[in-house]
Amino acid sequence: MQIGCPKEIKPQEFRVGMTPAAAQEAVAAGHTVIVERGAGLGAGFTDEDYRAAGAGIVDTPEEIFASAEMVVKVKEPQPAERRLLREGQLLFTYLHLAPDAAQTRDLLDSGCTAIAYETVTDRNGGLPLLAPMSEVAGRLAPQVGAWTLQKANGGLGVLLGGVPGVRPANVVIVGGGVVGTAAARVAVGMGANVTVLDRSIPRMSYLDDVFMGRLTTQFSTAAALADLLPSADLVIGAVLIPGAAAPKLVSRAQLSTMQAGAVLVDVAIDQGGCFETSRATTHADPIYEVDGVMHYCVANMPGAVARTSTQALGNATLPFLMALANKGWRKACADDPHLLNGLNVHAGQVTYAAVGTALGLPS
Ligand code: NAD
Repeated sequence: MQIGCPKEIKPQEFRVGMTPAAAQEAVAAGHTVIVERGAGLGAGFTDEDYRAAGAGIVDTPEEIFASAEMVVKVKEPQPAERRLLREGQLLFTYLHLAPDAAQTRDLLDSGCTAIAYETVTDRNGGLPLLAPMSEVAGRLAPQVGAWTLQKANGGLGVLLGGVPGVRPANVVIVGGGVVGTAAARVAVGMGANVTVLDRSIPRMSYLDDVFMGRLTTQFSTAAALADLLPSADLVIGAVLIPGAAAPKLVSRAQLSTMQAGAVLVDVAIDQGGCFETSRATTHADPIYEVDGVMHYCVANMPGAVARTSTQALGNATLPFLMALANKGWRKACADDPHLLNGLNVHAGQVTYAAVGTALGLPS
Protein backbone atom coordinates (compact mmCIF):
# COMPACT_ATOMS: atom_id res chain seq x y z
CA MET A 1 0.00 0.00 0.00
CA GLN A 2 1.13 3.59 -0.60
CA ILE A 3 1.10 5.35 2.79
CA GLY A 4 1.43 9.13 3.01
CA CYS A 5 2.32 11.33 5.95
CA PRO A 6 1.83 15.09 5.45
CA LYS A 7 3.23 17.84 7.66
CA GLU A 8 0.68 18.97 10.27
CA ILE A 9 -0.69 22.43 9.48
CA LYS A 10 -2.87 23.14 12.54
CA PRO A 11 -1.30 26.08 14.43
CA GLN A 12 1.08 25.06 17.23
CA GLU A 13 0.99 21.38 16.23
CA PHE A 14 4.50 19.92 16.18
CA ARG A 15 3.68 16.22 16.24
CA VAL A 16 3.78 14.05 13.12
CA GLY A 17 1.65 11.05 12.16
CA MET A 18 4.48 8.59 11.50
CA THR A 19 7.88 8.30 13.15
CA PRO A 20 10.84 7.08 11.10
CA ALA A 21 10.55 3.83 13.09
CA ALA A 22 6.95 3.38 11.91
CA ALA A 23 7.97 4.18 8.34
CA GLN A 24 10.72 1.58 8.56
CA GLU A 25 8.27 -1.11 9.73
CA ALA A 26 5.84 -0.29 6.94
CA VAL A 27 8.60 -0.35 4.32
CA ALA A 28 9.92 -3.66 5.69
CA ALA A 29 6.42 -5.11 5.24
CA GLY A 30 6.51 -4.17 1.56
CA HIS A 31 4.63 -0.87 1.64
CA THR A 32 5.67 2.45 0.14
CA VAL A 33 5.85 5.44 2.48
CA ILE A 34 5.98 9.06 1.37
CA VAL A 35 6.52 11.88 3.86
CA GLU A 36 6.18 15.61 3.25
CA ARG A 37 9.46 17.51 3.47
CA GLY A 38 10.02 18.78 7.02
CA ALA A 39 7.01 16.88 8.42
CA GLY A 40 8.98 15.46 11.34
CA LEU A 41 11.11 18.49 12.23
CA GLY A 42 8.84 19.72 15.03
CA ALA A 43 9.23 16.33 16.70
CA GLY A 44 12.96 16.19 16.06
CA PHE A 45 12.95 13.86 13.02
CA THR A 46 14.80 15.02 9.90
CA ASP A 47 14.02 14.17 6.29
CA GLU A 48 17.26 12.19 6.35
CA ASP A 49 15.88 10.05 9.22
CA TYR A 50 12.88 9.19 7.05
CA ARG A 51 15.02 8.52 4.00
CA ALA A 52 17.20 6.20 6.06
CA ALA A 53 14.01 4.38 7.08
CA GLY A 54 13.22 3.81 3.41
CA ALA A 55 10.57 6.51 2.98
CA GLY A 56 10.41 8.92 0.05
CA ILE A 57 10.29 12.67 0.67
CA VAL A 58 7.90 14.84 -1.35
CA ASP A 59 7.61 18.62 -1.40
CA THR A 60 3.89 19.28 -1.02
CA PRO A 61 0.78 17.95 0.71
CA GLU A 62 -0.83 17.79 -2.75
CA GLU A 63 1.62 15.05 -3.73
CA ILE A 64 0.79 13.07 -0.57
CA PHE A 65 -2.97 13.31 -0.96
CA ALA A 66 -2.85 12.68 -4.71
CA SER A 67 -1.05 9.35 -4.47
CA ALA A 68 -1.39 7.88 -0.97
CA GLU A 69 -3.99 5.15 -0.47
CA MET A 70 -3.78 5.80 3.29
CA VAL A 71 -3.02 9.21 4.81
CA VAL A 72 -1.71 9.09 8.39
CA LYS A 73 -1.89 12.28 10.45
CA VAL A 74 -2.22 13.55 14.01
CA LYS A 75 -4.86 16.30 14.03
CA GLU A 76 -8.16 16.42 12.18
CA PRO A 77 -7.71 17.49 8.55
CA GLN A 78 -7.85 21.26 8.18
CA PRO A 79 -10.05 22.79 5.42
CA ALA A 80 -7.12 22.97 2.96
CA GLU A 81 -6.37 19.28 3.55
CA ARG A 82 -10.02 18.28 3.31
CA ARG A 83 -10.13 19.70 -0.20
CA LEU A 84 -7.37 17.23 -1.17
CA LEU A 85 -9.04 14.08 0.20
CA ARG A 86 -10.25 11.67 -2.48
CA GLU A 87 -12.98 9.09 -2.87
CA GLY A 88 -11.82 5.72 -1.59
CA GLN A 89 -8.83 7.21 0.26
CA LEU A 90 -8.25 5.99 3.81
CA LEU A 91 -7.63 8.65 6.48
CA PHE A 92 -6.21 7.55 9.85
CA THR A 93 -5.95 10.37 12.44
CA TYR A 94 -7.68 12.11 15.39
CA LEU A 95 -10.99 13.50 14.09
CA HIS A 96 -13.28 14.53 17.02
CA LEU A 97 -16.22 14.86 14.61
CA ALA A 98 -19.12 15.13 17.08
CA PRO A 99 -18.75 18.89 17.69
CA ASP A 100 -17.47 19.62 14.17
CA ALA A 101 -20.24 19.68 11.55
CA ALA A 102 -18.11 21.44 8.93
CA GLN A 103 -15.37 18.85 9.01
CA THR A 104 -17.89 15.99 8.99
CA ARG A 105 -19.63 17.48 5.95
CA ASP A 106 -16.31 17.78 4.09
CA LEU A 107 -15.30 14.21 4.92
CA LEU A 108 -18.69 12.94 3.72
CA ASP A 109 -18.42 14.96 0.52
CA SER A 110 -14.90 13.67 -0.17
CA GLY A 111 -16.03 10.03 -0.27
CA CYS A 112 -13.05 9.01 1.87
CA THR A 113 -12.98 6.34 4.58
CA ALA A 114 -11.97 7.89 7.91
CA ILE A 115 -10.84 6.00 10.98
CA ALA A 116 -10.63 8.17 14.11
CA TYR A 117 -7.95 7.46 16.70
CA GLU A 118 -10.17 8.63 19.54
CA THR A 119 -12.90 6.01 19.07
CA VAL A 120 -10.68 2.93 18.60
CA THR A 121 -11.21 0.76 21.69
CA ASP A 122 -9.38 -2.03 23.52
CA ARG A 123 -10.58 -5.17 25.24
CA ASN A 124 -10.63 -3.46 28.66
CA GLY A 125 -13.05 -0.81 27.47
CA GLY A 126 -10.25 1.74 27.22
CA LEU A 127 -9.28 4.08 24.40
CA PRO A 128 -5.76 2.96 23.48
CA LEU A 129 -5.04 5.80 21.05
CA LEU A 130 -6.16 8.48 23.51
CA ALA A 131 -4.46 7.00 26.58
CA PRO A 132 -0.88 7.84 25.56
CA MET A 133 -1.76 11.54 25.32
CA SER A 134 -3.47 11.40 28.72
CA GLU A 135 -0.29 9.81 30.08
CA VAL A 136 1.75 12.67 28.66
CA ALA A 137 -0.61 15.40 29.91
CA GLY A 138 -0.79 13.75 33.33
CA ARG A 139 2.96 13.55 33.71
CA LEU A 140 3.32 17.14 32.56
CA ALA A 141 0.74 18.49 35.01
CA PRO A 142 2.91 18.48 38.17
CA GLN A 143 5.83 19.77 36.08
CA VAL A 144 3.89 22.81 34.82
CA GLY A 145 2.27 23.17 38.25
CA ALA A 146 5.71 23.27 39.89
CA TRP A 147 6.84 25.91 37.39
CA THR A 148 3.73 28.03 37.99
CA LEU A 149 4.28 27.78 41.76
CA GLN A 150 7.57 29.63 41.30
CA LYS A 151 7.45 33.22 42.55
CA ALA A 152 8.41 34.77 39.20
CA ASN A 153 5.38 33.11 37.61
CA GLY A 154 2.91 34.46 40.18
CA GLY A 155 2.97 31.35 42.35
CA LEU A 156 3.36 30.85 46.07
CA GLY A 157 7.11 30.33 45.82
CA VAL A 158 6.84 26.77 47.07
CA LEU A 159 9.02 23.83 46.00
CA LEU A 160 6.89 20.71 45.39
CA GLY A 161 9.17 18.38 47.29
CA GLY A 162 10.16 20.80 50.05
CA VAL A 163 13.62 20.30 51.57
CA PRO A 164 14.66 18.57 54.80
CA GLY A 165 12.99 20.51 57.60
CA VAL A 166 10.49 22.23 55.28
CA ARG A 167 7.21 20.55 54.44
CA PRO A 168 6.53 19.51 50.84
CA ALA A 169 3.69 21.07 48.84
CA ASN A 170 0.15 19.75 49.15
CA VAL A 171 -0.98 18.51 45.74
CA VAL A 172 -4.66 17.65 45.24
CA ILE A 173 -5.51 15.66 42.10
CA VAL A 174 -9.20 15.56 41.19
CA GLY A 175 -9.86 12.45 39.08
CA GLY A 176 -7.68 9.36 39.36
CA GLY A 177 -7.96 7.97 35.80
CA VAL A 178 -5.15 7.89 33.24
CA VAL A 179 -4.26 11.59 33.64
CA GLY A 180 -4.67 11.59 37.42
CA THR A 181 -2.60 8.46 37.94
CA ALA A 182 0.20 9.74 35.72
CA ALA A 183 0.11 13.09 37.56
CA ALA A 184 0.20 11.29 40.91
CA ARG A 185 3.23 9.27 39.86
CA VAL A 186 5.23 12.40 39.03
CA ALA A 187 3.98 14.43 42.02
CA VAL A 188 4.82 11.59 44.40
CA GLY A 189 8.18 11.20 42.69
CA MET A 190 8.88 14.91 43.21
CA GLY A 191 8.23 14.41 46.91
CA ALA A 192 4.90 16.23 47.21
CA ASN A 193 2.16 15.36 49.69
CA VAL A 194 -0.47 14.00 47.28
CA THR A 195 -4.21 13.45 47.69
CA VAL A 196 -6.26 11.94 44.84
CA LEU A 197 -10.04 12.39 44.77
CA ASP A 198 -12.21 10.11 42.65
CA ARG A 199 -15.75 8.83 42.68
CA SER A 200 -14.80 5.32 41.60
CA ILE A 201 -14.01 3.11 44.57
CA PRO A 202 -12.34 0.41 42.39
CA ARG A 203 -10.11 3.13 40.96
CA MET A 204 -9.14 4.32 44.45
CA SER A 205 -8.44 0.71 45.51
CA TYR A 206 -6.12 0.41 42.53
CA LEU A 207 -4.30 3.64 43.43
CA ASP A 208 -4.07 2.58 47.05
CA ASP A 209 -2.50 -0.74 46.01
CA VAL A 210 -0.10 0.72 43.48
CA PHE A 211 1.17 3.66 45.55
CA MET A 212 1.40 1.66 48.80
CA GLY A 213 0.75 4.51 51.20
CA ARG A 214 2.68 7.17 49.27
CA LEU A 215 -0.53 9.07 48.54
CA THR A 216 -3.96 9.50 50.12
CA THR A 217 -7.19 8.68 48.28
CA GLN A 218 -10.43 10.38 49.17
CA PHE A 219 -13.96 9.96 47.80
CA SER A 220 -14.74 13.01 45.70
CA THR A 221 -17.51 15.16 47.16
CA ALA A 222 -17.95 18.92 47.18
CA ALA A 223 -17.32 18.81 50.95
CA ALA A 224 -14.07 16.85 50.63
CA LEU A 225 -12.71 19.24 48.04
CA ALA A 226 -13.81 22.32 50.03
CA ASP A 227 -11.91 20.89 52.98
CA LEU A 228 -8.71 20.43 50.98
CA LEU A 229 -8.65 23.73 49.07
CA PRO A 230 -7.41 26.07 51.86
CA SER A 231 -4.22 24.06 52.36
CA ALA A 232 -3.68 23.06 48.72
CA ASP A 233 -0.63 24.50 46.97
CA LEU A 234 -1.43 22.83 43.64
CA VAL A 235 -4.76 21.42 42.43
CA ILE A 236 -4.79 19.31 39.24
CA GLY A 237 -8.14 18.84 37.48
CA ALA A 238 -8.23 15.44 35.73
CA VAL A 239 -11.88 14.37 35.75
CA LEU A 240 -13.75 12.90 32.82
CA ILE A 241 -17.38 11.96 32.47
CA PRO A 242 -17.43 10.18 29.09
CA GLY A 243 -19.43 12.03 26.47
CA ALA A 244 -20.17 14.98 28.76
CA ALA A 245 -18.66 18.34 29.56
CA ALA A 246 -16.43 18.29 32.65
CA PRO A 247 -18.31 19.02 35.89
CA LYS A 248 -17.38 22.34 37.55
CA LEU A 249 -15.89 21.20 40.84
CA VAL A 250 -14.31 24.46 42.11
CA SER A 251 -16.41 27.62 41.98
CA ARG A 252 -15.09 31.15 41.67
CA ALA A 253 -16.28 31.87 45.22
CA GLN A 254 -14.07 29.05 46.50
CA LEU A 255 -10.91 30.70 45.14
CA SER A 256 -11.08 33.09 48.10
CA THR A 257 -10.68 30.10 50.44
CA MET A 258 -7.34 29.24 48.77
CA GLN A 259 -3.89 30.66 49.45
CA ALA A 260 -2.86 33.60 47.25
CA GLY A 261 -0.41 32.15 44.73
CA ALA A 262 -1.84 28.62 44.87
CA VAL A 263 -2.07 27.00 41.43
CA LEU A 264 -4.86 25.28 39.50
CA VAL A 265 -3.81 23.11 36.52
CA ASP A 266 -6.95 22.18 34.58
CA VAL A 267 -6.05 19.25 32.34
CA ALA A 268 -9.77 18.66 31.70
CA ILE A 269 -9.93 22.02 29.89
CA ASP A 270 -10.36 20.19 26.57
CA GLN A 271 -13.76 19.07 27.90
CA GLY A 272 -14.64 22.57 29.11
CA GLY A 273 -12.59 22.49 32.32
CA CYS A 274 -13.47 21.43 35.85
CA PHE A 275 -12.89 24.77 37.57
CA GLU A 276 -15.44 27.57 37.03
CA THR A 277 -12.69 30.10 36.31
CA SER A 278 -10.85 27.97 33.72
CA ARG A 279 -10.50 29.20 30.16
CA ALA A 280 -8.35 27.54 27.51
CA THR A 281 -4.85 28.95 27.12
CA THR A 282 -1.97 28.26 24.75
CA HIS A 283 1.66 27.24 25.18
CA ALA A 284 2.61 30.77 24.13
CA ASP A 285 0.65 32.32 27.03
CA PRO A 286 -0.23 29.43 29.36
CA ILE A 287 -1.08 31.02 32.74
CA TYR A 288 -3.33 33.72 34.16
CA GLU A 289 -4.53 34.82 37.59
CA VAL A 290 -8.03 35.03 39.03
CA ASP A 291 -8.62 36.30 42.58
CA GLY A 292 -4.98 35.62 43.47
CA VAL A 293 -5.02 32.00 42.25
CA MET A 294 -2.85 31.08 39.26
CA HIS A 295 -4.44 29.03 36.46
CA TYR A 296 -2.73 26.85 33.81
CA CYS A 297 -5.28 25.63 31.23
CA VAL A 298 -3.47 24.61 28.04
CA ALA A 299 -5.83 22.54 25.91
CA ASN A 300 -3.13 20.61 24.01
CA MET A 301 -0.56 19.94 26.71
CA PRO A 302 1.13 17.05 24.82
CA GLY A 303 2.23 19.56 22.16
CA ALA A 304 4.77 20.92 24.66
CA VAL A 305 6.71 17.68 24.39
CA ALA A 306 6.08 16.94 20.73
CA ARG A 307 8.89 14.42 20.44
CA THR A 308 7.78 12.27 23.37
CA SER A 309 4.14 12.63 22.32
CA THR A 310 4.85 11.64 18.71
CA GLN A 311 6.74 8.56 19.83
CA ALA A 312 4.03 7.59 22.34
CA LEU A 313 1.26 8.08 19.79
CA GLY A 314 3.28 6.28 17.11
CA ASN A 315 3.77 3.26 19.38
CA ALA A 316 0.03 3.05 19.98
CA THR A 317 -1.06 3.58 16.36
CA LEU A 318 1.54 1.30 14.74
CA PRO A 319 -0.22 -2.07 15.20
CA PHE A 320 -3.44 -0.62 13.77
CA LEU A 321 -1.60 1.15 10.96
CA MET A 322 0.12 -2.09 9.99
CA ALA A 323 -3.15 -4.04 10.08
CA LEU A 324 -4.78 -1.42 7.82
CA ALA A 325 -1.83 -1.46 5.41
CA ASN A 326 -1.39 -5.24 5.34
CA LYS A 327 -5.03 -6.27 5.09
CA GLY A 328 -6.82 -3.20 3.72
CA TRP A 329 -9.33 -1.44 5.96
CA ARG A 330 -12.26 -3.79 5.24
CA LYS A 331 -10.51 -6.96 6.36
CA ALA A 332 -8.61 -5.21 9.16
CA CYS A 333 -11.88 -3.89 10.60
CA ALA A 334 -13.69 -7.19 10.03
CA ASP A 335 -10.94 -8.97 11.97
CA ASP A 336 -10.76 -6.46 14.82
CA PRO A 337 -13.98 -5.02 16.30
CA HIS A 338 -11.90 -2.48 18.26
CA LEU A 339 -10.48 -1.04 15.07
CA LEU A 340 -13.96 -1.13 13.53
CA ASN A 341 -15.06 1.13 16.41
CA GLY A 342 -12.72 3.71 14.93
CA LEU A 343 -14.59 3.83 11.62
CA ASN A 344 -16.38 7.20 11.63
CA VAL A 345 -17.04 7.92 7.95
CA HIS A 346 -17.23 5.76 4.84
CA ALA A 347 -18.31 6.61 1.29
CA GLY A 348 -20.43 9.60 2.21
CA GLN A 349 -22.00 8.01 5.31
CA VAL A 350 -21.40 8.61 9.01
CA THR A 351 -20.61 5.18 10.43
CA TYR A 352 -20.24 6.06 14.13
CA ALA A 353 -23.55 6.35 15.97
CA ALA A 354 -22.53 9.03 18.50
CA VAL A 355 -21.31 11.32 15.71
CA GLY A 356 -24.54 10.84 13.76
CA THR A 357 -26.60 11.56 16.88
CA ALA A 358 -24.57 14.64 17.80
CA LEU A 359 -24.90 16.12 14.31
CA GLY A 360 -28.40 14.92 13.47
CA LEU A 361 -27.11 12.82 10.55
CA PRO A 362 -28.11 9.26 9.66
CA SER A 363 -25.46 6.72 10.68
P1 NAD B 1 -10.19 8.80 32.59
O1 NAD B 1 -11.56 8.39 32.17
O2 NAD B 1 -9.07 7.82 32.55
O3 NAD B 1 -10.26 9.35 34.09
C1 NAD B 1 -11.24 10.24 34.55
C2 NAD B 1 -11.47 9.97 36.03
O4 NAD B 1 -12.33 11.00 36.54
C3 NAD B 1 -12.16 8.62 36.30
O5 NAD B 1 -11.37 7.84 37.19
C4 NAD B 1 -13.48 9.04 36.94
O6 NAD B 1 -13.93 8.12 37.94
C5 NAD B 1 -13.10 10.39 37.54
N1 NAD B 1 -14.21 11.27 37.89
C6 NAD B 1 -15.38 11.47 37.25
N2 NAD B 1 -16.12 12.38 37.93
C7 NAD B 1 -15.39 12.76 39.01
C8 NAD B 1 -15.60 13.66 40.10
N3 NAD B 1 -16.75 14.38 40.20
N4 NAD B 1 -14.63 13.78 41.03
C9 NAD B 1 -13.48 13.08 40.93
N5 NAD B 1 -13.24 12.20 39.94
C10 NAD B 1 -14.18 12.05 39.00
O7 NAD B 1 -9.83 10.11 31.73
P2 NAD B 1 -8.36 10.68 31.45
O8 NAD B 1 -7.81 10.03 30.24
O9 NAD B 1 -7.62 10.64 32.73
O10 NAD B 1 -8.70 12.19 31.04
C11 NAD B 1 -9.02 13.19 32.00
C12 NAD B 1 -9.25 14.52 31.29
O11 NAD B 1 -8.03 15.01 30.75
C13 NAD B 1 -10.22 14.43 30.10
O12 NAD B 1 -11.04 15.58 30.10
C14 NAD B 1 -9.30 14.44 28.91
O13 NAD B 1 -9.95 14.91 27.74
C15 NAD B 1 -8.28 15.43 29.42
N6 NAD B 1 -7.01 15.48 28.66
C16 NAD B 1 -6.53 16.74 28.42
C17 NAD B 1 -5.34 16.91 27.76
C18 NAD B 1 -4.80 18.30 27.57
O14 NAD B 1 -3.86 18.48 26.80
N7 NAD B 1 -5.33 19.31 28.25
C19 NAD B 1 -4.62 15.80 27.28
C20 NAD B 1 -5.13 14.51 27.54
C21 NAD B 1 -6.34 14.38 28.24
